[in-house]
Amino acid sequence: MADGAELAADQHVRYIVTVEKKKDSFESLVMEHIRLNGAYWGLTTLDLLHKLHAVDAAEVVDWIMSCYHPESVQVDLEGTSGTIRMSSPRSAPCRSSASSIGSMSLTLTRLLIMSFDCKMRMDCFLVISGVKSTLVFCCVGALAIAGSLHHIDRDLLGWWLCERQCKDGGLNGRPEKLADVCYSWWVLSSLIMIDRVHWIDKEKLTKFILNCQDKENGGISDRPDNAVDIYHTYFGVAGLSLMEYPGVKPMDPAYALPLDVVNRVFLRK
Ligand SMILES: [Zn+2]
Repeated sequence: MADGAELAADQHVRYIVTVEKKKDSFESLVMEHIRLNGAYWGLTTLDLLHKLHAVDAAEVVDWIMSCYHPESVQVDLEGTSGTIRMSSPRSAPCRSSASSIGSMSLTLTRLLIMSFDCKMRMDCFLVISGVKSTLVFCCVGALAIAGSLHHIDRDLLGWWLCERQCKDGGLNGRPEKLADVCYSWWVLSSLIMIDRVHWIDKEKLTKFILNCQDKENGGISDRPDNAVDIYHTYFGVAGLSLMEYPGVKPMDPAYALPLDVVNRVFLRK
């Protein structure tokens, strides 16, 4: 793809709507256990592109409510550790402390315990192998929502995060891995929250994301020339949003939702 490529927004909208309708396809059946995640990725992308009206809201709400079972999910606020886990027979591990905190109230004591615990772990991020920027996002997002970002050494963490930018402009999840579009979100959101996003070459990252588009059929892949999927389509558009790409709605880096939604639902503005 030549320099100056643009976001193929209309094609991405068509791709998302098509995926949403293909409930009997092989891909849809093997991904059934994360279909609710898929709905979040698809709907948020449509909203970021100002095309939420492409789906029938009442139909989506009915379907989501049909997934609800009063005894299927419970939240454990574990004793003194201050961590949060979702438990249910079929629930996926809850990876986002930020989203958990955002959707429920916690006592201040628990938040403070968790913040101090995070501070100690933050200092170890540079030396622990296997730590990914997804985990960094969870911790930084949780601390941001708890108003406790002052526990982070911003320069130290910012340095580790900006080192994630590879020669091709994309970001990886940890050292010596290939760049992947989804880390555009995990890394950029954390850098924004600690006010170090200017350490990333945004122009090169934008080009990397745009090069991962299927410009004919829509959708974004993890890296150039790979097959597209709804997950990377969402994280690609979300990454562009964080870089203020024209025509894409701004997102809140901690809540991972469009800013106007956060203002309306959480902050009641
Ligand atoms: Zn990925």
